Amino acid sequence: MFSNKDSFKKSFLKRLESMCGKGFEESTRRDQYFTLGNMVREYISSKWIDTNELYRAENKKQVYYLSIEFLLGRLLCQNLLNLGIKEVVEEGLAELNIQLNEIEECESDPALGNGGLGRLAACFLDSLATLNLPGHGYGLRYKHGLFDQKIVDGYQVELPEQWLRHGNVWEVRKPDQAVEVSFWGRIESSYEGNSLIFKHVGEQKVLAVPYDMPVVGYQVDTVNTLRLWNAEPASFGPNQDVLSYKRDTEAITDFLYPDDTHDEGKILRLKQQYFLVSSSLQSIIQSFKKENSNIRELHHYVAIHINDTHPALAIPELMRILVDIEGLTWNEAWHVTTNTVSYTNHTILAEALEKWPIYLFKPLLPRIYMIIEEINERFCAELWDRYPGEWQRIEHMAIIAHGLVKMAHLAIVGSNSINGVAKIHSDILKNREMKSFYDVYPEKFNNKTNGITHRRWLLKANPELTNLIKETIGEDWVKQPEKLIDLKRHVYHPSVKEQFAQVKRKRKEILAKKIAEKNGILVDIDSIFDVQVKRLHAYKRQLLNVLHIMYLYNRIKEDPNYVIQPRTFIFGAKASPTYYYAKKVIKLIHSLADKVNNDPRVSQVIKVVFMENYRVSLAEDIFPAADVSEQISTASKEASGTGNMKFMMNGALTVGTLDGANIEIMEEIGKDNIFTFGLTAQEVLKYEENGRYRSMEYYHHDLRIRQVINQLTNGFFSEDEGEFESIADSLLVQNDQYFVLRDFASYIDIQEKVGIAYQNREKWLEQALINVSHSGFFSSDRTISQYADGIWNIEPLGVKM
Ligand SMILES: *Cc1c(COP(=O)(O)O)cnc(C)c1O
Repeated sequence: MFSNKDSFKKSFLKRLESMCGKGFEESTRRDQYFTLGNMVREYISSKWIDTNELYRAENKKQVYYLSIEFLLGRLLCQNLLNLGIKEVVEEGLAELNIQLNEIEECESDPALGNGGLGRLAACFLDSLATLNLPGHGYGLRYKHGLFDQKIVDGYQVELPEQWLRHGNVWEVRKPDQAVEVSFWGRIESSYEGNSLIFKHVGEQKVLAVPYDMPVVGYQVDTVNTLRLWNAEPASFGPNQDVLSYKRDTEAITDFLYPDDTHDEGKILRLKQQYFLVSSSLQSIIQSFKKENSNIRELHHYVAIHINDTHPALAIPELMRILVDIEGLTWNEAWHVTTNTVSYTNHTILAEALEKWPIYLFKPLLPRIYMIIEEINERFCAELWDRYPGEWQRIEHMAIIAHGLVKMAHLAIVGSNSINGVAKIHSDILKNREMKSFYDVYPEKFNNKTNGITHRRWLLKANPELTNLIKETIGEDWVKQPEKLIDLKRHVYHPSVKEQFAQVKRKRKEILAKKIAEKNGILVDIDSIFDVQVKRLHAYKRQLLNVLHIMYLYNRIKEDPNYVIQPRTFIFGAKASPTYYYAKKVIKLIHSLADKVNNDPRVSQVIKVVFMENYRVSLAEDIFPAADVSEQISTASKEASGTGNMKFMMNGALTVGTLDGANIEIMEEIGKDNIFTFGLTAQEVLKYEENGRYRSMEYYHHDLRIRQVINQLTNGFFSEDEGEFESIADSLLVQNDQYFVLRDFASYIDIQEKVGIAYQNREKWLEQALINVSHSGFFSSDRTISQYADGIWNIEPLGVKM
């Protein structure tokens, strides 16, 4: 069906008729998308079956990656690319006068995640399959993924996302593998012989139905599985309010929580977490039991990884299964559980650490609560032995304290590995945030610097750059991304530089066209494309970027002799619907854009563009077109960042703080090829300890700061003067928690250097190419190999070609 373009064309036309009941002439783009999608899914299915068969036959250790989010992005073109049939399909379609891109536009972007954490999970799946590692994702099949963002009069409005409206060609519903998950009710205990037996009675049962999606490795035969659970009514009893039961159960997988870091104190969220964990563990143990009889050896065959603390209930749930159902003693079960589970920490922001009030937790999950109490008591007893009399330390480390269940503490105590996501982040965990746990379990803590899949963020998103690299250094790097370093020998070749300049220009033209279509703004291709795209958050400091643009505006207005390298400032960001400050910053960006873009003189040299509805598919258009990557979080607050790596891989230069993976990017490319500024993490943490920062001093002593802050409230934006008062207050009244004003001067200086550097075209191109050549380290293939060797202890399985 895909062996050559003619046979593809023939099958495609035939299939189109049988599936859509129409001839080619009457078919719509969507008909064509569904036809092609189904053909590809079918093509995948034999490899998928073979992979599962191989895993069963070999019976080697497998990893299950549990994540409340998977931010997949569109799958059609990625699957075609990974299967090695993209060209055949493109050529066949071309003869029918169809562009593959147009068909791709019909695929909804599965947005089952908020941002970095969910995108990491998606990159990891791609790397696991490509490295032939037996590893699968487990997540939730939200009916509505992350909201669609519309901008109305400069304000964010959220619309429900509807990725399933036209069906999902990639998924396979497996009702025969459904399992039941229990909520509410009470626990009855009784003796059977000498052992105490616990029985859950009066519970509400929810059916978890798996929908499996294939995860296709790049030009290998491995096809792993992403299993997404759908919540449905289990069975209807005679005395039941049928409608409310149906509503309650289905609600569990209705919506993704659109909150990026805050702990959403909602019982529904807790239900989602337990639903994910309980259904996944039941399914994992069922498949283990098909090949193995001794559950005491589970950890030799199964690794369970929890992506942040959202799936941390995997620990008590596995204990429940092992003790209550499999009949292991507590100590046996604890040995198996702790040797099975590993945990990644994603943040040190205190407000993002999950804590559940007991009064919500205990009634919803009575047996799980009992088990956590037992884990906590045993843990505290151990601490008492180690630190006799230090009750304050023990209270501070306890899993349950002050009416709260602390999920991070549970995750640390119940797992064999705790990793941070960049060196600096892992060090802060060990030496500060989690020091008391590091003292007890030093061997558990480690670092795994995040990565991104170059197959999506370079091969798929930027075919122009991909071709240039292939022409320059051959194709080895495609399978071994660390070999991108071979490009370094060529960065001074005039023709390579020139071709890179042309690639960048072409990608800027493509993005400029989209901006013209969507925003009605004409941007200058020769201007610097200066981009900040990521979730909107105070710690990510979009506000610092905005204040800099306000400063430039003032400078241009006041000084007729001021010359500046033209720049287009591009933003993309969703704000959590309940995050007042973040939504105000979005409005501020729009007010500023109006002011700048409508000023006859200022708009000659700078423009401000906010691109609506930032998501994976839009990101794929943005990264290849960027000249400058804004990574300006308050040092110590961004655990790693992965957007920074996507920019680097596409030849943008970073303006960044010494935070997260920016530091490792600098270590790779050298200090001269990155623009760093601002406080270091140490300086920030010191200020936070001694409380000596006074933002007001910076307001008083720096005229530029005073001017831009005054403009927030003096009617400069010619509307409601109170509109941005809360932003001004965050900087002055609330003493600027994220040190925006402290880093302002240093940011302005570095941005001036960026403008000057861009004028040395040859050097800029060299630096951009140096960035690309060192980006191989940030491939998620490297990250996943490190997880496989250092945490999971799994090996590739030889899938026969
Ligand atoms: C990579 C990515 C992110 C994460 O970006 P950061 O800059 O690391 O916060 C968020 N959203 C999307 C759509 C992404 O592709």
